[in-house]
Amino acid sequence: MKILVINAGSSSMKYQLIDMTDESTLAKGNCERIGIDGHFKHTTSDGRKYEADVTMDNHTQAFMQIKNALVDEKVGVIKDLSEVSAIGHRVVQGGSIFKKSCLVTEDVIEKIEGLSPLAPLHNPAHVQGIRACIDVFGKDVPEVVVFDTSFHSTMPETAYMYAVPYEYYEKYAVRRYGFHGTSHRYVSARCAELMGKDIKDLKIITCHLGNGSSITAIDGGKVVDTSMGLTPLDGIMMGTRTGCLDPSVVTFIAEKEGFTPAEMDTLLNKKSGFLGISGVSSDDRDVCAAAESGNKRAQLAIDMLEYHILKYIGSYAAVLGGVDAIVFTAGIGENQSSHRENVCHKLAYLGVEINDEVNAGMIRGAEGKISTENSKVDVFVIPTNEEIVIARDTMAIVNA
Ligand code: ADP
Repeated sequence: MKILVINAGSSSMKYQLIDMTDESTLAKGNCERIGIDGHFKHTTSDGRKYEADVTMDNHTQAFMQIKNALVDEKVGVIKDLSEVSAIGHRVVQGGSIFKKSCLVTEDVIEKIEGLSPLAPLHNPAHVQGIRACIDVFGKDVPEVVVFDTSFHSTMPETAYMYAVPYEYYEKYAVRRYGFHGTSHRYVSARCAELMGKDIKDLKIITCHLGNGSSITAIDGGKVVDTSMGLTPLDGIMMGTRTGCLDPSVVTFIAEKEGFTPAEMDTLLNKKSGFLGISGVSSDDRDVCAAAESGNKRAQLAIDMLEYHILKYIGSYAAVLGGVDAIVFTAGIGENQSSHRENVCHKLAYLGVEINDEVNAGMIRGAEGKISTENSKVDVFVIPTNEEIVIARDTMAIVNA
């Protein structure tokens, strides 16, 4: 069974075609700048590449590019489109409605669209992607939606409620939802596998550290708390997002500067975090390079990031009543061994002990344990694979 995995944004659409017989990726690519001018990239697992500027006015035209590339004589990986048995879509916000992945129906599309006020940048784009997919592939190819929020739906009320008047929860569904759920789900399951234990018997803290970052506390395979909130702005400091702060900071700056809610939104989401503190870049690599050459604000940004990670791990160890394993994943988590080293050394009080040499070598897609045999907590680096979770869910739902 071959499954096409789609991650549709407002102006981009990433795809991967996965052969489920061995879960290998046959081809992947990205339609960029949809509705602007259009750029298309496609690579196959055996190294064939196609890249070009192509006008894509909308998502349907983007799907035409994907479709043509998949069956192309030179860069194609299948003979006929009928080889695509099903399509799995990533959807950011499933609200309190979607606690699991499900088959796409008109009712499901409408519900995803209805959740747009909670994810105005993402859900409308996903709906465009799903509709365009139906246009191009037809109604007979089953489609499945997999939500970033679903894995977090087991959080107890105490963790997901905000202490604002209850009526805003009732009126607008204001609560913590959490994101990156597919990634936390993948790495926590993989962690249990690597430990050779049943996830039901484990307390795991997963740290997804990328441009966007979140940390999750998982007890017996169920999320009990996660750092992102109503939106992906909460939690630890990120590339351009603040992470948690005293809400008064928002009203104070807005009043002083005369900013509108939309302007404040841009400031908090696009101009803060690593970029805002260092003034150098939102990218961890650039900030680390600047710190090494003596830039104090860049060093401050790094110290703050590591401090935030440490604080969340500490508080989640308290929430879980102990911790068996800590997992690092995503761009920063998988590659920046110095952050892992600095954080883990400060977790000695929990019995964490890592092998610095092994840690330094665990980069660029390597998977493995970085803690020593004496460590009371196992620490892993596990490259995330959200696409495989989407493909697995899609196959399971279609087969059922
Ligand atoms: P996104 O959240 O957009 O998926 P990623 O998970 O790719 O982002 O993470 C991006 C971050 O990871 C950047 O800050 C970048 O510096 C860091 N990163 C990515 N690849 C590497 C690498 N090979 N070495 C060091 N840092 C990396």
